[in-house]
Amino acid sequence: MKKTLRYNYRLNPTPEQEAKLIEFGATARGIWNLLLSETMRRYEFDTTFLFYKDMASLLKELKAFEEFAWIKAFDSAAAQQVARDLETALKNAFSKGRLQHFPKHKVSYKQKKLHNDSFRAVNNSNCIRIENGAISIPKVGKVPIILHRDLMSQIKTVTIQYRHGKWECSITQEVECKTALRVLNSITGFDINSKQTVVGSNGFTADNPKFLKRSKEKLTHLQRQLARRNKGSNRWQKTKQRINKLHGKISRQRLDFAHQISRQITNETDILVFEDLNIKAMQQFNGSMVADNVMGLITQLSKYKAELKGKLYHEIGRFEKSTGICSECDQQHALSLNERYFTCTACNTYQSRDLSAAKSIAKTGELDLVATGIVARVMPTSQQKSIIKMKVFELSKLVEGSEKKEAA
Ligand SMILES: [Zn+2]
Repeated sequence: MKKTLRYNYRLNPTPEQEAKLIEFGATARGIWNLLLSETMRRYEFDTTFLFYKDMASLLKELKAFEEFAWIKAFDSAAAQQVARDLETALKNAFSKGRLQHFPKHKVSYKQKKLHNDSFRAVNNSNCIRIENGAISIPKVGKVPIILHRDLMSQIKTVTIQYRHGKWECSITQEVECKTALRVLNSITGFDINSKQTVVGSNGFTADNPKFLKRSKEKLTHLQRQLARRNKGSNRWQKTKQRINKLHGKISRQRLDFAHQISRQITNETDILVFEDLNIKAMQQFNGSMVADNVMGLITQLSKYKAELKGKLYHEIGRFEKSTGICSECDQQHALSLNERYFTCTACNTYQSRDLSAAKSIAKTGELDLVATGIVARVMPTSQQKSIIKMKVFELSKLVEGSEKKEAA
């Protein structure tokens, strides 16, 4: 199985290159708007849409005309990419079970004389390369890049955008996952509580970091300051810029923290069990978690990291109760939000609310996985036995799809 990974890098374009990048961003937006208008016109005419093929040939035709010279000046693979993206957006808007709306015309927002447009170049026949600290982008040239981490495989696409006051490129690469582990040596449940702390049934804990809290306090402060200033004034602009910068910092801090935690979690255990956070947010946090979703990010990243390592990620089903269940005897207790510890009414075990919740999540996850035949419990070898009381599972063949075919 292959997975597409995305990494962001900082770019330091020269003034000429910067002008080109701004122009190309605007061109990509222009092409999107043009193709969308054409599609809508076509729809009004005969209720059909333009598909990628139609769009691509339309672009080809337009290039011949003087007034569309701006399309000709653009990287043609990047132009086709816009058409592909639009087709995807159209398809998504009309497929069932999706919440996407009909695509809209793109508007550009100016920040510090620069626009927030973006465009995506495709690596056809190795035209995008990183050499000597610069990335070669078609029709732009060799743009200096800060390669803070090495590439893992060949570049697929590069998206270039001006964000939070800096030039960034987001590089996608295809990476081969490790083959699924046959023997899974441990299962851990993770509870995420209202204080945004992750607690694992193996004793792992990670707090929502203080630096994030501090940055957020600063943000509220600046937002209040902005409200006091005259909209559009110099001082207003200044505060606006600081807010924008801070947003960038917060999102980098969040991502960094989420990567750290998910790396640690996926290193320590072979089967990871989480709760469905959307459901949990509805039950407990009244949406406060949705606004600042560090924890959601951790589950997302843990999922892909687990898959890369050939491990198992599982989310337990809806409305599964996890808090207030005794980890020794499964007695249920109704706890109020501020009761962090409780004593079991049946067996008198004094326990942490979060740890027992994590244990109960691990238990539910194990039942799920065994019941659906994804894993089977096996006897640990004597070597495994000696390391605490370890649970060992074997991946069943069922998930590989061969049995499904036979049954059908
Ligand atoms: Zn008990």
